[in-house]
Amino acid sequence: MTTKIGENKVVTRFAPSPTGYMHMGSVRTALFAYLFARNHNGKFILRIEDTDKERSKKEFDQAILDTMKWLGLDYDEIYRQSERGTIYRKYIEKLISEGKAFVSKEEVTEEGQRSEVIRFKNPNKKISFKDLIKGDVTFDTTELGDFVIAKSLDEPVFHLAVVVDDFEMGITHVIRGEDHVSNTPRHILIFEALGAPVPTFAHLPLVLAPDRTKLSKRKHGEIVSLEYYRKLGYLSVSIINFMALIGWNPGNDKEVFSISELIKIFDLEKVQKGGAIFNTEKLNWFNKHYIQLLSQEEKFLHLKELGDIPFLNEIGEKINLLNLMTERISNFSELAFSLKSGEYDFLFKKPEYSMDLIFWKGEVDVLKTKERLINVKTILEAVDSNSFNKEVIKESLWPFAEKEGRGSVLWPVRVALSGKEKSPDPFTLSEILGKDETLVRLVYAINLLS
Ligand code: GLU
Repeated sequence: MTTKIGENKVVTRFAPSPTGYMHMGSVRTALFAYLFARNHNGKFILRIEDTDKERSKKEFDQAILDTMKWLGLDYDEIYRQSERGTIYRKYIEKLISEGKAFVSKEEVTEEGQRSEVIRFKNPNKKISFKDLIKGDVTFDTTELGDFVIAKSLDEPVFHLAVVVDDFEMGITHVIRGEDHVSNTPRHILIFEALGAPVPTFAHLPLVLAPDRTKLSKRKHGEIVSLEYYRKLGYLSVSIINFMALIGWNPGNDKEVFSISELIKIFDLEKVQKGGAIFNTEKLNWFNKHYIQLLSQEEKFLHLKELGDIPFLNEIGEKINLLNLMTERISNFSELAFSLKSGEYDFLFKKPEYSMDLIFWKGEVDVLKTKERLINVKTILEAVDSNSFNKEVIKESLWPFAEKEGRGSVLWPVRVALSGKEKSPDPFTLSEILGKDETLVRLVYAINLLS
């Protein structure tokens, strides 16, 4: 904890607008504001900025709540700007009565209709602030003119609402995307005009696509939104771990962090200044890692969440299939896809294959192959069904395989069990299929060779 904070309790906020599904950049902003607050035993506020009546949608508001819950980013308080109109009005009136804002008549329509807006009386001065990430920032506000802070007493614009809220909510640290840096001088002017303490700012570097352009929906499509990864069956722990390392690192090579470890070591001063690359290969790496840590029951629940999956009941009954099926996946929809495309059908129904496949590397010897399969059947019949697991199966078959040639024995057995050119090894398959089914499939192959 190297960031120096005064005696005040740290209060941060995440302030999304409910105008679309949550962007990965927003996930990162939420995470950093959360980690910073929790690291300092502070307060973390969720503020839904829904003043834009046309673009704000209830479903996106709900999506924000779902997302926060799914990510495990618990907040201490929640507000909606649409419910705070009287508060903004009070401050707008105060600014007007103190001569710090004024009603301005605007010429707007072609028909010559006049409308009014409320403008901030810009003191035209240099504003400097120390950004925790960007360092010293200085800005001459003259070029901003007397900017608009409300369309009417009841319609504050973004700048006014944000500042009033940050003040009223006692926000000590404004942690937000770099795209807001240019708004900060306006905000500081308003804080000063309200006689409010100016919070500390930390503007996070942009999240960039691997082509180093800003990660944008228009350009990069749905991969920019968290919803996409949820639908593909990524785990929230992977998303959290992955996003934490976008633009931040702990100063050493460690990469795998639980959320509680992140809370302990998170530090805004270690956030990099330049844009941070969003690399989905890395996300896949994390997700693979975290999938391996799940129990088979947990894996089952994740798979089930993806909806219509073939053989779901069978998998539920033979839960030990899941370690095998998830060995190589980067997300659960890959497994769903394999199941749908029939890749695992052989585990649930008898395989169909042509006899040629059963011969090991051109050893087209029907009698010999048949004899070997009969031997294997005899050996496996002797294995107790209660200890019919891959270790015991391997141990029992190994001497015979060594004697006859491994490929000559194990290839036909594997094909008999899977009907496929490529599949897991025959010991694993036997265990998964169970003793009865293993023997049934061997007999089928033996008969095929008659
Ligand atoms: N509502 C703003 C946005 O979604 C955030 C404003 C802020 O964090 O100050 O970009």
